[in-house]
Amino acid sequence: MNTPRIAIVGAGISGICMGVALQRAGFTEFTLFEKSHDYGGTWRDNSYPGLVCDVPSRYYQFRFAMNPEWTRLYSAGPEIKEYLVGVAREHGLHRRTRFGSEVTSAEFDGTAWLVGTSDGQRERFDFVLCATGFLHHPNWPDIAGVDEFGGTVMHSARWQHEVELTGKRVGVIGTGSTGTQLVSALAGKVPEVVLFQRTPQWILPTVNRSYSPISKALYRAVPALGVVPYWFNRAAFAVFSQGLVHPGRVRRFIQWVVERNLRSVKDPELRRKLTPNYQAMCKRLVVSDRFYTAVQRPDVRLVTEGIDKIEKRGVVTSDGTLHELDILVLATGFDSHAFMRPMAITGLDGRTLDQAWAEGPRAFEGVMMPDFPNLFMLVGPHSPFANHPLTAVAEAQSARIVGWLKRWQAGEFTTVAPTRAATDRYNARMRAAAPSTVWTTGCQSWYLGKDGLPELWPWTPGAYERLIRSTPNPVDYDLRQRVDSRK
Ligand code: NAP
Repeated sequence: MNTPRIAIVGAGISGICMGVALQRAGFTEFTLFEKSHDYGGTWRDNSYPGLVCDVPSRYYQFRFAMNPEWTRLYSAGPEIKEYLVGVAREHGLHRRTRFGSEVTSAEFDGTAWLVGTSDGQRERFDFVLCATGFLHHPNWPDIAGVDEFGGTVMHSARWQHEVELTGKRVGVIGTGSTGTQLVSALAGKVPEVVLFQRTPQWILPTVNRSYSPISKALYRAVPALGVVPYWFNRAAFAVFSQGLVHPGRVRRFIQWVVERNLRSVKDPELRRKLTPNYQAMCKRLVVSDRFYTAVQRPDVRLVTEGIDKIEKRGVVTSDGTLHELDILVLATGFDSHAFMRPMAITGLDGRTLDQAWAEGPRAFEGVMMPDFPNLFMLVGPHSPFANHPLTAVAEAQSARIVGWLKRWQAGEFTTVAPTRAATDRYNARMRAAAPSTVWTTGCQSWYLGKDGLPELWPWTPGAYERLIRSTPNPVDYDLRQRVDSRK
């Protein structure tokens, strides 16, 4: 039987998941390219103080690698990274991973992909599986004078651990999940935290309890027990996701919960400043047990005047006030629409990815594109992201990809790509459904594309999983056979 040569690009959550799925299905000839020197993707890049995953640990894990050792309901970043490294190593992925090797280009020559790396090598692969993530390229804000700052300036995803925080005045720009977690962690640890807020966020309250040694021992002794919290959380997220994609009771209930939570801010003026003018979940919902407590501390200052410029001593706001700082953290998010870019990808007839995505990232069922045969994406455009765990998305997409590889191996085709008509129909259906989602109810967020519509799957994650785990409809695909010297 033929063995396909496979390149996986990226060794984060979805790359690890894909690698394990390939091994389990008996596909052993693959190379996992990772530009950095460790596993973990966004969980490797982000190491800022207070980083916690806001999806419960017993759900934010692979079903094939249930971990009995989670210490808390919501795990801290380093624990998740350690888990991912452990999964990769336990499954022997290190034997197939090429660290420090950035894929810079992939060119389809009509039969196979020529993959180029930063070290100047070029290799042929039958399949390219892009597992590059989307919270990957830091968004460095376009604020005048950001490079003039006399203290330390760093993006939250490039934390400089050698920088001493003790005794320092720290400014944080951004109030997303990252900014709120940072402020919660820094409050009380440094003399002053100044939070520069452009847009307030709704905050969903929670309690991050730790797991007792007895509970961990139980999960260790009976690993199958792990499915109970997994499916419980899955059911809870299924209900939550109804509120994301349909107006109605769930959406109203979440709105009620976050408004009630905001009442824990006692000072009316501070509460006013923290009150968003859009619906809860329009931006990705922030989940926190500590933010409102932190922001009410006397050593935390919320600044809502716009930032005019940054100068040597600190940040100058539009009212002319200079906020003097020693450290400035840019919790300003990511270029989430880059996906595999800046990789130069060239498909059939010299069509480039930039040309294909001129109107924004478009994919068929989140995993494939017309004109790019045998190229698959994990957690690609229109995958369900929102507050849904990417571990579950990656598992379902890996299974779909393995299905195609088996068909290739059985000789059903040499190359496969979705047809343009199927892709256009699929995207048109999604765009038609977008207005009923909460993401279009009047806020700016990284979910939205150039046309103001969300780049997310507009139905429930459960519906996506059913679709991607179903048998592909033959009419949607262009399957080709070629006489290949290897066959
Ligand atoms: P984000 O949600 O994109 O938030 C960026 C923040 O920076 C926003 O408040 C934005 O304001 C502000 N900002 C951007 N440019 C600015 C400028 N020029 N001037 C002033 N403010 C500016 O980024 P994030 O907080 O890093 O989160 C990104 C994603 O990472 C999340 O949505 C989530 O998916 C993931 N994440 C998850 C967790 C977790 O617990 N699972 C933790 C952290 C991050 P506007 O709102 O006005 O645009």
